[in-house]
Amino acid sequence: MQHQPNLIDGQWINADDGTTLEVTDPATDQTIATVPSVGQAETRRAIDAAHRAFEPWAARPAAERGRLIARLAELMHRDADRLAGIMTAEQGKPLGEAKGEIAYAASFLEWAAGEAPRMYGESIPSSSSEKRILVLRQPVGVCAIITPWNFPAAMITRKIGPALAAGCTAVIKPAELTPLSALAIGELALEAGLPPGTVNILTGKARVIGEAFFDDQRVRKLSFTGSTPVGQQLMRQASGNLLRLSMELGGHAPFIVFDDADLDRAVAGAVACKFRNAGQTCICANRFYVQSGIYEKFMQRFNAAVANLKVGRGTQEGVHVGPLINDAAIDKVREHVQDARDKGASVPVGGEKVTIQGLADRFWKPTVVDGMTPEMLCANEETFGPVAPVARFEHDREAIDAANNSPYGLASYFYTSNATRLMRTAEALHYGIVGANDAVPSTAQAPFGGVKHSGFGREGGKYVMDEYTSLKYVSWGLV
Ligand code: NAP
Repeated sequence: MQHQPNLIDGQWINADDGTTLEVTDPATDQTIATVPSVGQAETRRAIDAAHRAFEPWAARPAAERGRLIARLAELMHRDADRLAGIMTAEQGKPLGEAKGEIAYAASFLEWAAGEAPRMYGESIPSSSSEKRILVLRQPVGVCAIITPWNFPAAMITRKIGPALAAGCTAVIKPAELTPLSALAIGELALEAGLPPGTVNILTGKARVIGEAFFDDQRVRKLSFTGSTPVGQQLMRQASGNLLRLSMELGGHAPFIVFDDADLDRAVAGAVACKFRNAGQTCICANRFYVQSGIYEKFMQRFNAAVANLKVGRGTQEGVHVGPLINDAAIDKVREHVQDARDKGASVPVGGEKVTIQGLADRFWKPTVVDGMTPEMLCANEETFGPVAPVARFEHDREAIDAANNSPYGLASYFYTSNATRLMRTAEALHYGIVGANDAVPSTAQAPFGGVKHSGFGREGGKYVMDEYTSLKYVSWGLV
């Protein structure tokens, strides 16, 4: 079994008191590695290192920073098979998906590398002929980065790419369940030539590391991806030092199929959107609204496609849906399906666990719930599992109102062949992301992020640089 230390100031370190955490494979329950369980003292040392590295890093020519970030992306592509293997072992997703995530993760670095030399400032005409007004765009400083387990690589590169491009340095705390992908990226960051202290990675008790972040005035920014309740808690803690914040939180994505949808594309999109990563994606479709004129045809095709999905260990050839991350995830899925049954829904496909010999008891059959109603749990909160609840609607407004009737506002989807309906629906949905005839909208060029309880801030596109920079106004008196 492997032991993987933490990265501080370019050195691989263990916890001062030698304590460790076990990392397990969710498909087998076997311990695959140990990592340090660091505390406040080690976190302070990581902040020291990031603080020391900050000014020299920010002072480097932006193009040079960009080249080093691009080099890290190249190394991720070079090692894609190895990194995908690590991810499948600690997170469970099928190997093909894990490899896709590595390419997706690298694309955020490539994008950020290109943005580094484009951090433009401005000059503004002054009202006085004796003055000039300049606006400089400057890095915010040391960034604390906290990420979830569902995308163990991409959630990190989406943040460190633009942070480093802007001239910031980072202290990363990955999810306890999936630290190995983060630490593997740390190794490649050193190989790429990123200076010691620019990227530091800590594993340990979240609350303890978090408190050390919030106690230290040298940390100027928190970029968090995770659940809404934890995000709210961190916002309260971050208020002490008035940290800049980016909050990528939970979702509850609606997926609307209008009567005039292209059926093949809508069914393929619904399956891809719902079942990738076993439904454990913040932008996964979580509830479906299908118009009555197409309902029967859609359900017939959708049920057949879902029944064909193969469940198994992510390393097995041909598997579409891997294990859920832990027992709590299985319990939540079971509760949502049972609740829907109790409230009158039928379950034409799945609806139960799958037992696979020799593997952990953590696989759930891809499930369709027919007859979702507004009072069901699945209509109101993230299931975060392979369950697709479907409701029928008559009029467009009904579906849009149901879609918007949620505190969340991350991603939403709909399928239609009518251009006017497409534009009106896109405008009417209260979401940060709208997939109009597109079930996989995430890409490095576009601004990813939510509204309402799904948080604020954008990752990707030119907009992401705003998250890691602040504007400085220089009033220049001519002498
Ligand atoms: P989570 O429980 O909120 O954890 C996210 C991260 O926060 C983990 O690293 C966790 O550490 C850490 N954390 C928890 N409590 C903390 C504290 N008191 N102080 C400092 N850090 C703390 O979320 P999750 O279960 O890992 O991820 C699933 C959630 O993330 C879902 O709601 C999903 O929708 C959301 N998500 C959103 C996006 C987006 O872009 N909007 C993307 C992916 C996922 P430990 O692991 O050590 O507990």
